[in-house]
Amino acid sequence: MIIQYADLLTIGAGGGAYPAAFRLARAGRSVVMVDPKGVMSGNCLYEGCVPSKAIRETAEIYQSQRRFAERGLPGTITVDFAKIMAHKDSIQSRRYQQHAADLAATPNIQMIQGEARFITPHEVAVDTADGERRLRCAQVIIASGSDVFVPPVPGSEFCLTSHDLYKPDPILKTLPERMIVIGGGYIGLETATFFAALGTRVTLLQRGGQLLNGMDPGMVAVLTPLLDPSIHILTGIDVTAVEVTPEGGRRVHYTRGEEDDTIDGDVVLMAVGRRPVIPAGAAEIGITVTRKGVAVGADLQTAHPHIYACGDVNGRVPLFHAAVRQSMVAAHNILGGNIPMDYADFRHIPTTIFTLPAAAYVGITPALAEAQGIPLQIGRYDFEEDSRAQILERMEGGIQLFFAADSLRLLGGWVVGIDAGALIGQIGTAAAHGLTAYDLARFADQHPMSAEGIGKAARSLF
Ligand code: ADP
Repeated sequence: MIIQYADLLTIGAGGGAYPAAFRLARAGRSVVMVDPKGVMSGNCLYEGCVPSKAIRETAEIYQSQRRFAERGLPGTITVDFAKIMAHKDSIQSRRYQQHAADLAATPNIQMIQGEARFITPHEVAVDTADGERRLRCAQVIIASGSDVFVPPVPGSEFCLTSHDLYKPDPILKTLPERMIVIGGGYIGLETATFFAALGTRVTLLQRGGQLLNGMDPGMVAVLTPLLDPSIHILTGIDVTAVEVTPEGGRRVHYTRGEEDDTIDGDVVLMAVGRRPVIPAGAAEIGITVTRKGVAVGADLQTAHPHIYACGDVNGRVPLFHAAVRQSMVAAHNILGGNIPMDYADFRHIPTTIFTLPAAAYVGITPALAEAQGIPLQIGRYDFEEDSRAQILERMEGGIQLFFAADSLRLLGGWVVGIDAGALIGQIGTAAAHGLTAYDLARFADQHPMSAEGIGKAARSLF
């Protein structure tokens, strides 16, 4: 058994782990990152944000080409699925190389491939190809992320998951004619819109009555009618079984109210959520684990002040950029001797649902304001009147900004439509730094870009 010492050990090497790892390594601490993938960047690059967006952006280009063709502009529209997947794979491998170069250029960090488990609060074991390693560590960051949740439905093994779809060298090699998506959360809905834009006939089965459950129903109501009308959305569905048909396709059995029914497709995507991955031994050493994940406050400390939990594993805001910020908070608090000096702001994390079109939100939106009794003034901008949206034939949706009714301080906003993911960052920065409608109204947003809509939404109040 090899015994080694590390100032910091990270369990996982994704967004919750490596920003802190680099920060502490640069401060001269010895750092070990442990991850079964043996490479940096976790599930985001392996099967999440990056590969799915590589597909999304190509799907959006096809959608745009079609729209231009409808207006008589010449353009050939042929979908080559194998090339789209090859593009996705090439982006992944390019980014893996970039991360490997970053790692190689940074002294004091070692990567160990394997799965970590706690032995004591200061000792972790890793089973590697060369046998068990024991690491004694002064500090630990648990950043073991989350994994696809597959419900115990008979035949669920005949379904694909986002892991199968987006991992390097994915399982799906050809564009399916018919896809059934189980789950109307962000992963299911995003994937449904990408494949619909590429020409697949998609049926989406959602358990509850609302898509994107948990998000502001007002925003969902703006988005839903803008989705590709070819996507057949069935709500109130309880999937009971999945089976393989004699032709090698898939049949999904479901109940809807009192009725039992089936639907056939070529592939089924199971997208009913993700669950935190808790390292073995965590509960035994006294770390509090709830259904949502490892319990932490805004300082990211667990019940043991020298053990932090960042990213999806704590279930607070399961998004890559939220993990990155949390990782930096943990790094600062470690450098401060485990006496908290930095805190994560969980309220101002921009969230984008990368559907076609996308929807994004940040901060306090009307449903939350109503629940908390906060009166709002709403500034609005419609992409119908936006020059960039007109140039790109993407005039659907718009921007809404939510201001405190008394002070006109920006509390939050949403964007449905063009550039939503980029615009919400600007809105989030303004909200996080306490800007008001007056501040936004006086800023010369660039023309002809969709960000003009932020100033115009603010000016709509005056
Ligand atoms: P986050 O963005 O929250 O950091 P990710 O899901 O992107 O999370 O990355 C978490 C990484 O942690 C994944 O690569 C996963 O394989 C890895 N991991 C999960 N469990 C363990 C474990 N017990 N030991 C080491 N790494 C783990």
